[in-house]
Amino acid sequence: MNKTIEKLKFDELGLNESVLHAIQDLKFEYPSDIQAKAIPVVLDGFDIIGQAQTGTGKTLAFGAPILSLMEKSNGKVQAIIMSPTRELAVQVSEELSRIAKHERIKILPIYGGQSIDRQISALKRGVDIVVGTPGRLLDHIRKGTLKLANAKFLVLDEADEMLNMGFIEDIESIISNLSEDRQTLLFSATMPRAIKILSKKYMHPETKIIAIEKKSLTVSKIEQYYYEVNSKNKFESLCRILDVDAPKTCILFCKTKKGVDELVDALQPRGYTVEGMHGDMKQSQRMNTLKKFKDGNLNFLIATDVAARGIDVENVTHVINYDLPQDSESYIHRIGRTGRAGKEGTAYSLITRREASAIRQIERDTKSVIAKKTVPTITDIFAAKSETILDSIKLVLEENLYENFLPLGHNLIKEFGAEDVAASLIKIIFDKEVNYNYADDSTTTPITDTVRLFLSIGRMDEVMTKDIISFLCETANLNKNELGRIDILDKFSFLDVPANLVDSILNNSSGKKLNSRKVNIEVAKSRR
Ligand code: ADP
Ligand code: MG
Repeated sequence: MNKTIEKLKFDELGLNESVLHAIQDLKFEYPSDIQAKAIPVVLDGFDIIGQAQTGTGKTLAFGAPILSLMEKSNGKVQAIIMSPTRELAVQVSEELSRIAKHERIKILPIYGGQSIDRQISALKRGVDIVVGTPGRLLDHIRKGTLKLANAKFLVLDEADEMLNMGFIEDIESIISNLSEDRQTLLFSATMPRAIKILSKKYMHPETKIIAIEKKSLTVSKIEQYYYEVNSKNKFESLCRILDVDAPKTCILFCKTKKGVDELVDALQPRGYTVEGMHGDMKQSQRMNTLKKFKDGNLNFLIATDVAARGIDVENVTHVINYDLPQDSESYIHRIGRTGRAGKEGTAYSLITRREASAIRQIERDTKSVIAKKTVPTITDIFAAKSETILDSIKLVLEENLYENFLPLGHNLIKEFGAEDVAASLIKIIFDKEVNYNYADDSTTTPITDTVRLFLSIGRMDEVMTKDIISFLCETANLNKNELGRIDILDKFSFLDVPANLVDSILNNSSGKKLNSRKVNIEVAKSRR
């Protein structure tokens, strides 16, 4: 479709007044692409298959038109929404409640792990929309506690994920309990064959397919940086970053479940409020953690990619890739947890020198700039902490919040003098604030800056990476592990080397011959 559709406003889509009112309360300015395209089609009564990336507002894309079309609450289930996980079911039901705010509509999430009796009594009281995981929905249908004869709407949310999790049979059994003249809305991030088969089988022949092209960059409001760290000091480097930046709400990603557990175990005793989340944890525990995080009672959530999938928490200020993701797509998914709904966010990746080319690849794939930052020094940490400590002291001073302590202060100052007393108090606060017993900087910042060198020899001279490496190792007497990334172009090449090797290379290698061609080496002009 064309440009004009992007400019559509919510009130031009055909939604009813109370839904529009609720959207206004949510302060959403414009519908997202999937919303602008899907809402009018759903309102016209078509089945749809919606394909769009995570975080594009698919919940509202089906929720708003369904709520607009629904009849007055009559105690019978009018819509059933299937969701792959309990977290997502809860999340969808919360989003729907916000959209249904000005209507008398009852929405109930049901999922395994929660007391079935409680769900049964809630269902008995009458519910309009049920959002649930397939397994538990089916339990209720079989028990006769969930009746779907009147359901006019079926939503399969994150359908690809539900199939991945092996829910196909449950889904089919549930659908067999639904009336044929229902409206079916299927949402999926990807369109594998199994989804196509499912839709052929259970959806209307005139189903509309709405696919929103993947934007390579949904991350424009996110500032992205990387830190080159030494794997030996990775943890300490992380603590330094956390101590200087003091992120309020931060998700840290690890590659493995074990990695999550280890990082939690390392951070917790140092006074960070942190919990982990991964597939081996009990459902109730994961929900608990997520709730704390959402409510702002947890600064740091450490997760694997799988555990974090689809989880939507507002106001995540930082995403930190403690381990790099496996590919650029997961990178985007991960950092998309921050900078939601147009807010600003910051993403950090901790990489070892070996991973330098991986971060460049991510930069290219995402067409974004990931700038290098250096791990804070103890001086940086001191400066950052001093600033926040002084701010909090000034606040107490300005608001006269210290009356009760005046006599104590008076005596102390008489004995030691004001300056010494103040400094000691600041030291006590400082020690409390800094969570890591940092070694001196020399042990933690062994990674010197890299310098890019220009070599006047390239592909046309029939040189390969290994030739350049052995040329430099021989002429400048280097170890090949010290060399960084090499880019060979047609007529010349670029090479990243640690700054402390530059002189030696320029003095010993430049002007020498490789493949009987003289190689001139210079420091390259800035890349950007
Ligand atoms: P998806 O299901 O596509 O992954 P969600 O429905 O979970 O995305 O929505 C992601 C976030 O975007 C939610 O916090 C939601 O409230 C918010 N959101 C939805 N629509 C809009 C909009 N039109 N403008 C701003 N934020 C929106
Ligand atoms: Mg969703």
